[in-house]
Amino acid sequence: MKILVTGGSGLVARHLQDILPDANYISSKDYDLIDLQQVRDMMNEYKPDVVIHLAARVGGIMDNINYPVDYLEENVLINTNVLKVCHEFDVKRVIGILSTCIYPDVLDTYPIKENKLFDGPPPPTNFAYGFAKRCMAAHIDSYIKQYKKKWCYLIPCNLYGEYDKYEEHHSHFVSALIKKIYEADDSITLWGTGKPLRQFMYSGDLARVITYMIDNNIVDNFNVAPDEVYSIDEIANIGKKACLKEKLVVNYDNTKPDGQFRKDVDSSKLLSVLKDFKFTSLEKGIKKVYDNFSKRYDK
Ligand code: NAP
Repeated sequence: MKILVTGGSGLVARHLQDILPDANYISSKDYDLIDLQQVRDMMNEYKPDVVIHLAARVGGIMDNINYPVDYLEENVLINTNVLKVCHEFDVKRVIGILSTCIYPDVLDTYPIKENKLFDGPPPPTNFAYGFAKRCMAAHIDSYIKQYKKKWCYLIPCNLYGEYDKYEEHHSHFVSALIKKIYEADDSITLWGTGKPLRQFMYSGDLARVITYMIDNNIVDNFNVAPDEVYSIDEIANIGKKACLKEKLVVNYDNTKPDGQFRKDVDSSKLLSVLKDFKFTSLEKGIKKVYDNFSKRYDK
């Protein structure tokens, strides 16, 4: 079975490389997926049976606020081109990756189930990215309806891991937190109020879920997130403990946005299929990433 992974240089793909070393991993330096002809050239070269579609323009909250047109256009083009060409080349299995931050900004009940995806607008802070990703869900569902494809998508919560990017404009909360804890002597400052609730998943866990689905021929759409839901302030405290820096003072900069208040999802559908699957606890995951970070970076 020939597997092709788009977004092959990214956070999730780097973990997949450990589990699926024989797959082909494609980054933007190999093929720019915004360009339809380059997507056709890529597919012609690899002729995969399975496509794990990870490539996306992904970024932090300020980047999403400042460049909504880029987030919308790039993601819509990438996803449309990849799905269209997967159909042209009759790719048997496609797994698309969405995100829990594309669910409606506010709902009546939490945790969120998969069928709530279109029940209201995505949060204003990542409205454009949210619509682009939702469009991929509608696109995959349409291919299933019209062409009976065995395609599906996963909806993972926020991720963190050893291979995350640490530049200010790009980094995700837990990775940024780990860097701040590593560099701090007495205190750290976090954006917002510390009150929003979040689920965070070690990116290696998502790679394990994707691999399990392929190995066991599971074709369905699932939320993917640990049950643990913490406030930002609780996560900061877990981080301090995991990094053995419990004396650090955590300050909050209320002039910066909080983002969506909560978006925790229900992964019971996934866990009813992957019965023995265990997510990495946040404390254990942060410790792992912090140890790796400390080895790689000088203060
Ligand atoms: P990432 O680390 O930001 O990597 C993005 C990947 O997409 C890179 O390999 C990048 O290639 C590639 N890419 C971007 N634009 C491209 C283009 N025009 N043509 C070809 N390749 C392009 O992403 P990630 O964190 O691994 O995320 C993987 C997937 O999970 C994404 O679909 C993301 O939306 C989703 N997700 C992520 C999170 C999270 O917290 N990270 C949470 C939920 C869902 P280059 O390196 O060459 O630029």
